[in-house]
Amino acid sequence: MATTSFSKKTLGIETAEPAVTPPASGAETGFLKKPKLGGGKSRKREIPEGLWTKCRNPKCEAMVFDKELDENLKVCPKCQYHFSISARERIHSLVETCSFEEMDADMVSVDVLQFTGVAAYKDKLDAYQKTTRLKDAVITGIGKIGEHRLALGVMDFAFLGGSMGSVVGEKLTRLIEAGTDKGLPVIIVSTSGGARMYEGMFSLMQMAKTCGALAYHAKSKLPYLSVLTNPTTAGVMASFASVGDLIIAEPGAMIGFAGPRVIKDTTQSELPPGFQTAEFLLDHGLIDAIVPRKEMKQRLAVYLEFLAEGKREVPAAG
Ligand SMILES: [Zn+2]
Repeated sequence: MATTSFSKKTLGIETAEPAVTPPASGAETGFLKKPKLGGGKSRKREIPEGLWTKCRNPKCEAMVFDKELDENLKVCPKCQYHFSISARERIHSLVETCSFEEMDADMVSVDVLQFTGVAAYKDKLDAYQKTTRLKDAVITGIGKIGEHRLALGVMDFAFLGGSMGSVVGEKLTRLIEAGTDKGLPVIIVSTSGGARMYEGMFSLMQMAKTCGALAYHAKSKLPYLSVLTNPTTAGVMASFASVGDLIIAEPGAMIGFAGPRVIKDTTQSELPPGFQTAEFLLDHGLIDAIVPRKEMKQRLAVYLEFLAEGKREVPAAG
């Protein structure tokens, strides 16, 4: 199940598909409404490439000006579809300017199994490190949201489908342990296809390791907020992502363990509409809130404010 996330097709969509698509000839956009200058020029020629992105929501498919999309934190202004966002962009959108001190920035995976398949793991790592400018699929560090210092980990789906190998597990574990040592809350923003199969058992061990560190963190009565973004699945959802004191998701995020087709085949039954979406999970009590990306920083600050007071006595009811 998790392996499907690493298939060439999925990864190809994330990396090879152009982020920018020229507007369809029938698209009604302000850009297209300007009078034609030349008589016979095609519309495609008039629009410089690299300016527009087509909304990935099939019900919307609006052409969005790239600058507008960036300013809107990669959320479609027409339908509020949340595009994937890089770890660095997300950190920038969450923490106070210049407050983030990255940890373990140079930690890289070792190809212990000397895994070779369609492509060697080592080659894949090299290629993704070049295209994403990341060393692995997570960035961790200490930063500030409002007045609150916190330990923040943010995953990036663009690096091998956000898969959790030994580096993701180790960096998150060190982050959580730093949070425990310094008495800080932990926030982890997840997006992942699951455990990294190229590292076999070493990647699966990270599930227990991260949860073990979180258990010590919880023992110190420190809050842990888990933020689930599209998609958060498999080994990540089955470990640290699902054990938050508060579990928050972005709108429309796909969240689950196995993919819907696997579940459908296994249970031999039709799945309810909207199955494995953030909205479905909220209705069924598996997550606590859905927060749009633009409100996330403010809402996290409110939650931190509330939970930071968690050590005080609960006021008597009434
Ligand atoms: Zn849209």
